[in-house]
Amino acid sequence: MNYEKNQILTVEIVDITSEGEGIGKVEGYPFFVKDAVIGDKAEIRVTRVKKNYAYARLEKVITPSPFRVQPKCALHKQCGGCQIQAMGYEQQLKFKQSKVRNNLIRIGGFEPEFIDKRMDPIVGMEEPFHYRNKAQYPIGVNKEGKPVAGFYAGRTHDIIANTQCALGVEENKEILEAILSYMEQYGVSAYDEATGNGLLRHALIRKGFDSGEIMVCLVINFKAGKSGKNGNAGSHRQEYLPKQEKLLEALSEILGMTSISVSINTEKTNVIMGKEIHTIWGKDTIEDTIYVRDVEKDFVSAGRGITFAISPLSFYQVNPVQTEKLYSLALSYAGLTGKETVWDLYCGIGTISLFLAADARKVYGVEIVPQAIEDARKNAEHNGIDNAEFFVGKAEEVLPKKYEKEGIFADVIVVDPPRKGCDEACLDTMLKMKPERIVYVSCDSATLARDLKVLCDGGYEIKKIRAVDMFPMTVHVETVCLLSKLLNTKT
Ligand code: SAH
Repeated sequence: MNYEKNQILTVEIVDITSEGEGIGKVEGYPFFVKDAVIGDKAEIRVTRVKKNYAYARLEKVITPSPFRVQPKCALHKQCGGCQIQAMGYEQQLKFKQSKVRNNLIRIGGFEPEFIDKRMDPIVGMEEPFHYRNKAQYPIGVNKEGKPVAGFYAGRTHDIIANTQCALGVEENKEILEAILSYMEQYGVSAYDEATGNGLLRHALIRKGFDSGEIMVCLVINFKAGKSGKNGNAGSHRQEYLPKQEKLLEALSEILGMTSISVSINTEKTNVIMGKEIHTIWGKDTIEDTIYVRDVEKDFVSAGRGITFAISPLSFYQVNPVQTEKLYSLALSYAGLTGKETVWDLYCGIGTISLFLAADARKVYGVEIVPQAIEDARKNAEHNGIDNAEFFVGKAEEVLPKKYEKEGIFADVIVVDPPRKGCDEACLDTMLKMKPERIVYVSCDSATLARDLKVLCDGGYEIKKIRAVDMFPMTVHVETVCLLSKLLNTKT
């Protein structure tokens, strides 16, 4: 069967890819259709034809799927951040549950019946919008030359104005409008990627959901001596922006504002943040408290809180409501009694480590970013935790070194790696260390499945698995897995 670009076809959407595209089939040949929902009957336009499949654009929904809902954000298609906003939330949860299940079966090689016995239902959100505590808005100008903030359209670098993302907090709009009107009033330029000229590149906004504290960090293309006068008389703080006090006046009035800073980025790069950060108003960090709760009681008990200081560059989970559930699960899977030695690999600013420390004899955290380890140490001290020790380095290098050279061991190992999963050397050492339990927290169930296969071939057994929806409206899903050492292992 030959199909051509721009050809119009009518298909039923019968399945969904792990990236959230609808799959329609004509005589067995699959078409991947962005924005189509499983159950739709739709008219599609072929965009790219490959040997065994093709891509197509959704032209018109002929009969909408029963799972289709009115998206909250009118710009969701152009933005691409919310790949499945047109799908009802219950259906999104089903999609994610089966995405994790399928990866465990297909990539991990586990039996479907075994997975179904060990896997609990996905933990969803009651209010699946406005959950993000962090937003990064690019700043540019529109066709009329007016400053705008929004998102990049598709894979381009054109900015579509939008200050009201359905996933972000309400305050984002007010903050961005204050920045844009300051730019207009005082003729402050937006950065132009083509020429490398212009001052304001991005606005990073973070809010502590528990504390209510807000941080704004403006990423600027600041070349010393050009953009503002250096050394502000009577103040120890430098001016990085023209008429800086006018912007600070407007922003500091916003309820909750705690920290305003600039990040200097003069490189021609897609990396948003520059390494140099200067606070220009208020504190250097904001605080937030996370509570772990009783998993058995549906996460509703009062819980135990730990307070974290967050700086503009720290990694901090973006969905605090679900983070509490994720950490509660990880902690409950760790099954600590106060006697254990625990390793928390890929520990970031020590979030999981510090909860573990409260229930363990000793916790060791390992993280590659030195700044994050500094934060982890401060967070431990601030919360009065003295049985957590942190190392800077790669998990796959620190763990073998500590095990082989210093003979340290582990009763429990917790890992929370980035999408690419654990390095082989790291998994190898874990197997040699033979902890009683391994808790694997994963943001990519494909690499999770790959790594679980290695751990299970090496003498461990999956006891429990549960997905947590940390990113509603997107195709991403977090998973926690508990592994236990088999009694009859030879090695
Ligand atoms: N557990 C933390 C952080 C998880 S994100 C939390 O919940 O907040 C994953 C972390 O792994 C990031 O902080 C990243 O910097 C770190 N990382 C990435 N590669 C690493 C490696 N090879 N060794 C150790 N840490 C690594």
